[in-house]
Amino acid sequence: MSALWVLGAGQLGAMLKQAGTPLGVDVRPVDIESTETLPLDENDIVTAEREEWPETVATKQLATHSNFVNLDTFPQLADRLTQKQWLDKLELATAPWFPVKNDSTAQYAYDTLGERVLMKRRRGGYDGKGQYWLKASENTQIPNDWKGAAIAEQAINFDEEMSLVGVRGKDGQCYFYPLTLNLHINGILYASVSPLKRLSPLQGKAEAMLSKLMEALDYVGVMAMECFRVGDELLINELAPRVHNSGHWTQAGATTCQFENHVRAVTGLPLAPTAVKNQSMMVNLIGVDVDYDWLNIEGLELYWYKKSVRPGRKVGHLNMCSGDLEKLQSMLSNLNEKLPEPYPQALEWLSKNLP
Ligand code: ATP
Ligand code: MG
Ligand code: MG
Repeated sequence: MSALWVLGAGQLGAMLKQAGTPLGVDVRPVDIESTETLPLDENDIVTAEREEWPETVATKQLATHSNFVNLDTFPQLADRLTQKQWLDKLELATAPWFPVKNDSTAQYAYDTLGERVLMKRRRGGYDGKGQYWLKASENTQIPNDWKGAAIAEQAINFDEEMSLVGVRGKDGQCYFYPLTLNLHINGILYASVSPLKRLSPLQGKAEAMLSKLMEALDYVGVMAMECFRVGDELLINELAPRVHNSGHWTQAGATTCQFENHVRAVTGLPLAPTAVKNQSMMVNLIGVDVDYDWLNIEGLELYWYKKSVRPGRKVGHLNMCSGDLEKLQSMLSNLNEKLPEPYPQALEWLSKNLP
């Protein structure tokens, strides 16, 4: 079989490669800074682990390949302005917003969106970086370098955050994992839990929203949709045209994980139904050093990304999956002694949200 090249060589690329191995698919993540001439064959396939990239020796070679799946979709979703326009065009609910233009004023933001407005840079933001709060009570103004480079969004007083990870095949067939409940602390994902029976009444609605999008974009592969739940309603926060952190639990908790389904989809192999095994939880490792003592917790699975540890940086994750809820609770109390602040908050949140 031809090779599957991945634009980007971070943890997502590594996990795609791991998932391709049992299928015999030669997955080759490429560092965007690589200056090598890549031995690309015309029958090879190209995918990406990131929605945006600078033009480099490596990305130029990959992005001009004729089998780059979803090539036209990336720029549309990587720019929050065009992403929001897609949501509006498809009449999919999202936080009320407007584009921040050169002549936009904070007063206009307060008049149209309310007292608290979140500006988000159009490009490049992740883990809550690239956000700027406007607060009428503090008379915050729009800094000049945000004009023309951001969107402004109403602050949503959501009940909770959840995401839907789905996969669409070349023939249009879609499968969806169950909704995942997510905890963000300071804009960065700390923990996820799935499946939850109490979320199942929202599953159909969420699937219809993501289907509509994937259909409209003629998208192939895994896409994630982050949502705010406000009462019985779902507002789309943002979309990611790739495998997603809130789907990492599927490595332990689903018969076929998001990474394998993405590899299957983009290489034209049959998709696997997204059946789950048991109750799953995922904890992101953020700014903490690896501690192999974690492995003394029976049933815990460690994914360490071998990145240098910096505050606020995602450097690994832990998956826990079991049909025994007491066992999951005891794993959480065990972990509580092995992780620093603010993990007690995240572990307590998981504990409280387990069925
Ligand atoms: P990611 O790492 O998920 O790509 P990001 O930097 O692209 O993050 P968002 O997902 O847009 O940013 O926002 C990060 C978090 O900030 C959200 O998960 C949510 O907790 C909070 N947030 C975002 N938009 C709003 C909003 N309109 N109102 C209130 N909170 C918000
Ligand atoms: Mg994002
Ligand atoms: Mg997000």
